[in-house]
Amino acid sequence: MNLSVLGSTGSIGRQTLELAECYEDINITGLAAFGNTELIYKQIHEFEPEICCIYDENKALELKAKLKSEGSKVKVVSGMEGLIECAVWDHTDTVLVSVVGMIGIRPTIEAIKAGKNIAQANKEPIVCAGHIIMPLAKQYGISFMPVDSEHSAIYQCLQGESANAIDKIWLTASGGPFRGWHREELRNIRPEDALKHPSWNMGAKITIDSSTLVNKGLEVIEAHYLFNVKADDIIVAVQPGSVVHSMVQFEDGAIKAQLGSPDMKVPIAYALHKGHRLAYTGEKKLGFKELCDIHFEEPDLETFKGLKLGIEACRREGSLTTVYNAANEECVAAFLAGRIGYLDIADGIEQAMAAHSFIADPSLEDIFEVEQEARGFIRKLYDLDK
Ligand code: MG
Repeated sequence: MNLSVLGSTGSIGRQTLELAECYEDINITGLAAFGNTELIYKQIHEFEPEICCIYDENKALELKAKLKSEGSKVKVVSGMEGLIECAVWDHTDTVLVSVVGMIGIRPTIEAIKAGKNIAQANKEPIVCAGHIIMPLAKQYGISFMPVDSEHSAIYQCLQGESANAIDKIWLTASGGPFRGWHREELRNIRPEDALKHPSWNMGAKITIDSSTLVNKGLEVIEAHYLFNVKADDIIVAVQPGSVVHSMVQFEDGAIKAQLGSPDMKVPIAYALHKGHRLAYTGEKKLGFKELCDIHFEEPDLETFKGLKLGIEACRREGSLTTVYNAANEECVAAFLAGRIGYLDIADGIEQAMAAHSFIADPSLEDIFEVEQEARGFIRKLYDLDK
């Protein structure tokens, strides 16, 4: 396959490039990053893509000059236009979308329209625009594969079941580093406490989201749009250790589960190869010990209000999923910058959702307007512009 990796310097992007070193069938045609020119420079030398996007315009100009002086032929582009050019690049047939945030919405849509197969690691396009993206993927007949481990698990459980209706989705969660804590104990959590995840190794934003369980709220919404299942039929189950990646229950009561080591390379490789399984590249496959340790718990929705709000946003869908996501993004950035407390994250989301004027079927323009409105609401609520 000829692959464009949008977000090549992030955790998923780097792991994808490690896979490209192992599997000869993956040829890198495009790379895109936000502003880490040092790493993308190395990646360009190693994988020799035809196009490279640095979102930050000044950094793109610097890199362009440096590459030109070396006689490199790679085309360097920047901004949203550049990101889209990288996504729809002629020689690219598959796009891995692993950027962070709503920045991935337009490139995902344009890649689908250009007939590219998609491996989707970026949650926000589905969370905010799932009602636009999923019908579009169907209309263009492309392969749209989830990379998120839970959604990959659900997809795998559904193989061979096309004639059978889903009764329930059991979406698993690790519970994060504060599982079992009470609300008051969370009040003085600092960014460095929340940045330690018990089983997955990820970027800062998603690690905070995992600790607040907002990540699971986003994943409930993601599952709702990807598999067309109602919010009330998606059950969140905490499974410390993250080896049961998710389960599907059918009408006859049977439950199918997908298990494996918590290693993102497995769902990435599965998505890129459209469901073909390849030899495991990691260090340790799941064994007896991990299987014996499996147990499930119900999530504490009072302490982890962020999850409860996500389920509510999923139930009402429309523009509320964008408010939930954008308010969270703004709050997490403020928390990481030391501007607000840990519990202010979910409180801020709750207030932004309560203040929002609901749109039932938002257009793309509506979605970006609602995003700005929710961000503005949080900035005002916590006085972040001072
Ligand atoms: Mg996940």
